[in-house]
Amino acid sequence: KRRIGVMTSGGDSPGMNGAVRAVVRMSIYRGCEAYAIYEGYEGLVQGGDLIKEMKWEDVRGYLSRGGTLIGTARCMAFMERWGRLKAARNMVKRGIDALVICGGDGSLTGADKFRAEWPGLIKELVETKELTPEEVEPFKHLNIVGLVGSIDNDMSGTDATIGCYSSLERICSAVDDVFDTASSHQRGFVIEVMGRHCGWLALMAAIATGADYVFIPEKPPSTGWEDEMCGIIANHRSRGKRRSIVIIAEGAHDVELKKITAYHVKDLLNTKLKLDTRVTVLGHTQRGGPACFYDRWLSTLQGVEAVNAILDATPETPTPVITIRENKIERSNLMEAVALTKSVTAAIEAKNFDRAMELRDVEFKE
Ligand code: ATP
Repeated sequence: KRRIGVMTSGGDSPGMNGAVRAVVRMSIYRGCEAYAIYEGYEGLVQGGDLIKEMKWEDVRGYLSRGGTLIGTARCMAFMERWGRLKAARNMVKRGIDALVICGGDGSLTGADKFRAEWPGLIKELVETKELTPEEVEPFKHLNIVGLVGSIDNDMSGTDATIGCYSSLERICSAVDDVFDTASSHQRGFVIEVMGRHCGWLALMAAIATGADYVFIPEKPPSTGWEDEMCGIIANHRSRGKRRSIVIIAEGAHDVELKKITAYHVKDLLNTKLKLDTRVTVLGHTQRGGPACFYDRWLSTLQGVEAVNAILDATPETPTPVITIRENKIERSNLMEAVALTKSVTAAIEAKNFDRAMELRDVEFKE
């Protein structure tokens, strides 16, 4: 029986449990054994109790639970070759030659690197007598499939990442709550949401809540934005609006890449408009709680597809990532998606903001 490992890595996101559940059950359904790798790459490197066989009933109830029940971690050892060597040894010892990894672009890049290095790692393990030639014989190749788990919706090539709609839902509901108290006191509120390089959550939340102004990293406000923002808000006030809401992504900056903070915006509204303004940083509440319908659906279908992709793979197949485009679950080239994602950040860093916006919308090539 083939043994398929599943892990969650990087920042947690709602829906990761749904993905684990789907991978475990689909693996069993397809006649394989399923193994959970606990604590992300740390579990692979340490092995032992952190690699555990999962039966059908072990993932019962996973769909409605938030966070990731098999844990996640940032693992420095896996960034180094010696860590990946230990990971390869542990996998062969447990008979696992396929991994489904649900994480962000860092985790998926690490996975692809691991796969490319695999034959060399195995050779070294035999040479150093950590493993015997007989032991490694069935494990010549490693199969990897990526699932994108991230609240930021920051991966190119997929319309949605597992977790982004749950997070957006939570942000909208928090803004609605702030809205009530802001209206009561006629206050201004600057609400900071997650997104260091990606403004998707901020932009979508601003549209969905009818915010007065929004800051996102991909499209910074032009020089003189302070007057423009205050003008817009003063105009809204003059029309009888009793509250002012500004949404700011944590990675917001101006055209010179100088950071714009929620406190900076608050001070402007206080001093220029004499608006009693408060800052609310939503922080990790955006990541917690159960997954919304969409993320349960997405993680289940993508988890099923991930197992199918593992079982279809040949040594020549480029590492796939499971995406959703125009409502269809698809397999895409993982490293192309990662490269495209990195090119958005590079365009921002080069102050080429039009290009960054263009790349966010880019038609993904096969
Ligand atoms: P998030 O989007 O939430 O930050 P992420 O998956 O991008 O998620 P990272 O912290 O970048 O999060 O990566 C998680 C883990 O993946 C790292 O701690 C490390 O163990 C592994 N990893 C990341 N990049 C690499 C790499 N280039 N080579 C090997 N391993 C890597």
